[in-house]
Amino acid sequence: MSEERTRPTGLEKVDDATIAITWADGKRLLYPVDRLRAKCPCATCVDEMTGAVLVNYDDVRGTGFKKITPVGNYAFQILFSDGHDTGFFTYRRLRGLGEAWAENAEILKEPDSPPQT
Ligand SMILES: [Zn+2]
Repeated sequence: MSEERTRPTGLEKVDDATIAITWADGKRLLYPVDRLRAKCPCATCVDEMTGAVLVNYDDVRGTGFKKITPVGNYAFQILFSDGHDTGFFTYRRLRGLGEAWAENAEILKEPDSPPQT
């Protein structure tokens, strides 16, 4: 059961700012790419000693992606539009992020959407 939750069966580009991953249990989750950039787990973006996140979302807001490559059977490597590609996003982590974001309309809302009139 738990393996299905962390096994992707589909990866699609929704638009330049968003990807969608479909999981083996049938769930389809949306991933704003700049939010993923802010969650990059590599040694440049996270202090290895303290675990402190060194990336501000505001500094990477609007970052897109150029390429997504599967790594083994456990992760995606994302080449972001800022040239950064050293972070491996494990399936387990992606599943958790996607579920957290799915419950947060503020994050999935298009940041540049025109104000309601
Ligand atoms: Zn990084």
